Amino acid sequence: MKTDRSRQMLAEANQYLAGGVASSLRAAMKPTPLYAAGGKGARVYDVDGNEYIDYLLAYGPLILGHSHPLLNEKVYQAMQKGYTFGLQHEGEIALAKRLTEILPCADKVVFSGSGTEAVMMALRLARAYTGRQKVVRFHGHYHGWSDAIFTSFPSADMKSQAAGSAAGEAVPGTGGQSVNSLEDVILLPWNEPDVLERTLTERREEIAAVITEPIMCNSGCISPREGYLEAMRKLTEQYGIVLIFDEVITGFRLGLGGAHERFGITPDLMTMGKALAGGIALSAVAGKNEIMNLVAEGRVDHLGTLNGNTVSTAAAMAVLDELGRDNGAAYRQMERIAGQLAEGIRSLMKKYNVNGVVNQPGPVFHMMFTDQQEVAHFDQFGRRDAAKYGLFAELMLDEGILLRPNGLWYVSAVHGDKEAEETLKAVENVFAKRP
Ligand code: PLP
Repeated sequence: MKTDRSRQMLAEANQYLAGGVASSLRAAMKPTPLYAAGGKGARVYDVDGNEYIDYLLAYGPLILGHSHPLLNEKVYQAMQKGYTFGLQHEGEIALAKRLTEILPCADKVVFSGSGTEAVMMALRLARAYTGRQKVVRFHGHYHGWSDAIFTSFPSADMKSQAAGSAAGEAVPGTGGQSVNSLEDVILLPWNEPDVLERTLTERREEIAAVITEPIMCNSGCISPREGYLEAMRKLTEQYGIVLIFDEVITGFRLGLGGAHERFGITPDLMTMGKALAGGIALSAVAGKNEIMNLVAEGRVDHLGTLNGNTVSTAAAMAVLDELGRDNGAAYRQMERIAGQLAEGIRSLMKKYNVNGVVNQPGPVFHMMFTDQQEVAHFDQFGRRDAAKYGLFAELMLDEGILLRPNGLWYVSAVHGDKEAEETLKAVENVFAKRP
């Protein structure tokens, strides 16, 4: 694979763009961060003329793939009238209404630009609603990069994480983060009902919210143990604690109603982003009236210059139309292709004696190299061979497959049998080369 042009462009970028890339995580790609020339459907092209089947999907948003005709058309139409007004427009009413119809937990919504902002807003609502300060969050989950919550994410320094976890305290995830910012965070291991029950019972007077990814997509796509989310729901309800499902990944990916519809558990608040507008910046918080009405009552401020702009709301309507078409045909397709890939990879692992695990809850899955039989806990995720996977991802690029270097695969509604077949052939080639 030729990457000369990408390397040249990175060198140029480094002169003007701090770190060379626009989000720190993107620097991790080996052999070099790639520069995109364009994308169409499930495929993306780089500036050196390489073509890849794309499972990075821009870290999740491209649920309709690249340059989807309906999304293009709706965005273009919206732009003809104006991108953003700072006034109200009918598109935001239409989208808000649609979300309240689709999402079981949504009486009302608010819009913002990124998942990070949506989480900030959800935490603010929870604190205002309860009059309490502390927030329970879990090891291995990611809720964006704001000072108030950025800790215990696998890309952060593992040593400080381990220290933090032993002491049961949250440590800042990055240099420059306020050392006091995590004072209100209680960091717990996930999927451990006893720890949760003990903590919530002992500290219920202080705790405003429990925030969780309903499936731990950011660290191994680990599913909740049977009864765990139910117990979380029951305890939070009992103690008047706001339960926040962070569905920035799972929202619109595990189904139109997200993970909470799939599990039949209604959180008090839900955050969403990524797939919502198919690659255009938009996020939202949805929740029940008694909490969301704090905004209407002027007790919680919600701000943002570009919130709910015409382009992003039109994009989201197009995404929801497309995903809802033919009784959810897009979900059946994504589930089928993701299942085919996960099963195919597992059997190739057996055939080539490669020890590994694929956790596949839906059209997002995590592939890991490990000697363990299962990865069902964050500690087990921590014991995977991350370096080996990084090498695998690099070799897959040579085969024309673009993967996120940490093992998380996203499948879009336009990935088909042809892509799955080519991808499994590529996996086989890589396994055959490196027994
Ligand atoms: N919450 C979850 C579960 C996420 O996975 C992410 C991003 O990956 C975020 C929040 C932050 O979203 P954004 O990157 O749009 O700020």
